[in-house]
Amino acid sequence: MTFSLFGEKFTRHSGITRLMEDLNDGLRTPGAIMLGGGNPATIPAMQAYFQGLLTEMLASGKVTDALCNYDGPQGKNDLLEALAGMLCETLGWEVKPQNIALTNGSQSAFFYLFNLFAGRMADGSRKKVLFPLAPEYIGYADAGLDDDLFVSTRPNIELLPDGQFKYYVDFANLNIGEDTGMICVSRPTNPTGNVITDDELHKLDKLAKQHDIPLVIDNAYGLPFPGIIFSNARALWNPNIILCMSLSKLGLPGSRCGIIIAREDIITAISNMNGIISLAPGGTGPAIACEMIKRKDILRLSETVIKPFYQQRVQETIATIRRYLPAERCLIHKPEGAIFLWLWFKDLPITAEALYQRLKARGVLMVPGNHFFPGLAHPWPHTQQCMRMNYVPEPEKIDAGVKILAQEIERAWREA
Ligand code: PLP
Repeated sequence: MTFSLFGEKFTRHSGITRLMEDLNDGLRTPGAIMLGGGNPATIPAMQAYFQGLLTEMLASGKVTDALCNYDGPQGKNDLLEALAGMLCETLGWEVKPQNIALTNGSQSAFFYLFNLFAGRMADGSRKKVLFPLAPEYIGYADAGLDDDLFVSTRPNIELLPDGQFKYYVDFANLNIGEDTGMICVSRPTNPTGNVITDDELHKLDKLAKQHDIPLVIDNAYGLPFPGIIFSNARALWNPNIILCMSLSKLGLPGSRCGIIIAREDIITAISNMNGIISLAPGGTGPAIACEMIKRKDILRLSETVIKPFYQQRVQETIATIRRYLPAERCLIHKPEGAIFLWLWFKDLPITAEALYQRLKARGVLMVPGNHFFPGLAHPWPHTQQCMRMNYVPEPEKIDAGVKILAQEIERAWREA
């Protein structure tokens, strides 16, 4: 049997596939320290909340209703209405139910959107997705039907006190041309925890409008929910923006529910794609989210439970890192959101990939930074000097993992 070109492309051993395999292997290896994945934390208060909510929804027949019926291809109407109402009321956005579509996880939303606006066009030209600031989310890298779908721009780097740094969009070198089909940015950013500033976002919005292309904002960690954002950035939406959200980091990754907020014609296109690819998005996640909105719990829990949990964890983790690794050995991207720390081992004598292998051999999993630069045109040593770690595991695990990390960094320098 022979696979098609599509088959060959989508059965490749991509970075994200290897990551998922390592995570799976790690989960089966007793004592492994998993600082690699993107699973959100098991927050006891959220677990208890979901347990209680689902028990009530089961008793009232709402879970059975969600499971026993197909929704329409745009997704569960009740959620579209409740969410549009909440966004109008709390953020003042002119969002109607016709501006929202649901997908099976936001990961599939990116697959739809990238291939809707980039790739081979009717006139034979090819368009690309521009990531204005690399490093960017590893999950985008293989989501194009066409090869070479992505281009990205290196950031400007500002060094900050306490061994921290922050990336900024390098607008002077941002090339938006005839072949740019969309701009896409995760905010907060996976892998770095960066939150591009309101000013940067407004500039990108303006540039996208000028070039008549959409600005896609991946808001998987952002506002108004799950609200894992520690800077005072504000959420932005207008008809030129396609805002992607998710229930995953609220604590419901198994519900596979993504949310796209966009102009009506784009929502119609997404609904049609949903119809062809999956008939309808799953209904249980939307039923839960709808209930959380109606009970006015979704924003309250984001603000009072989820955000403080991650904020405390990240501060503890930075203190742990500094116990073992001084700033001369390890710079840390200013943590402004999301569930990761991005570590920069400046001038490290071995590659991030080699460091990853050495850590893995010692039972510690972190993700080597070089996977997070999809579309970068020229080699850049920085890509081999960074690692992404998830700071969600229990503090003892983080301590043990960081201790081994520090030993491996020292070993690399000693052997240089
Ligand atoms: N976008 C970012 C930045 C992510 O980190 C993730 C998952 O980790 C996703 C999108 C996809 O999430 P999901 O498909 O679970 O909604």
